[in-house]
Amino acid sequence: MIDNGEEFLSMHPSQRKWINECRRCHSRGYKPNILEQLYPYPPTETRNLRCYFKPLELNSDGICEECNKLLK
Ligand SMILES: [Zn+2]
Repeated sequence: MIDNGEEFLSMHPSQRKWINECRRCHSRGYKPNILEQLYPYPPTETRNLRCYFKPLELNSDGICEECNKLLK
């Protein structure tokens, strides 16, 4: 993972819609199901998004899996 995701997003603001942010730890990642939604022709920008972010699933409270574990 390259650590200039913010730079990528400022260059491709339309890609922000694919970003999840955990409400607790504020870690960010892309929505895990984006490629399914864009299949079979994901735009190059969206494919590149995956170079800058890891997949991040949020629960219904907007909390990532890691935080969810810690809260239990
Ligand atoms: Zn979190």
